[in-house]
Amino acid sequence: MSDCIFCKIARGDVPAQIVHQDGQVTAFRDVNPQAPVHLLVIPNQHVGSAAELGPGNGPLLAAMLVVANRMAEGEGVAGTGYRLVLNVGADAGQSVPHLHLHLLGGRPLAWPPG
Ligand code: AMP
Repeated sequence: MSDCIFCKIARGDVPAQIVHQDGQVTAFRDVNPQAPVHLLVIPNQHVGSAAELGPGNGPLLAAMLVVANRMAEGEGVAGTGYRLVLNVGADAGQSVPHLHLHLLGGRPLAWPPG
């Protein structure tokens, strides 16, 4: 989608602190971090949210999770623990309508979330 901010980041049209990119997935630092480690893992191709995913998206989801786990290793939080979050829709606080997996870590994270 031409006007989607995360599509633009994946294309390199908008700057971001990209920490990983491959043919399917891009990972970059959240501009407003909520924890010492806060990365976003997105598909390069536009998907509006997790609600749009179906059985055919299994490989994409696996790729996002594998990258998130690798990023957690690289950021030094794999041993202490981290949270992977998909916000879907208004009540969950989804503010960017492009599927993104939050990777949060580096401090104890409260549960339940707010
Ligand atoms: P959500 O509320 O689940 O939709 O999360 C969207 C996240 O994207 C928020 O944590 C924002 O801080 C982050 N965000 C929005 N725009 C940018 C950007 N240009 N670069 C990096 N992170 C962004």
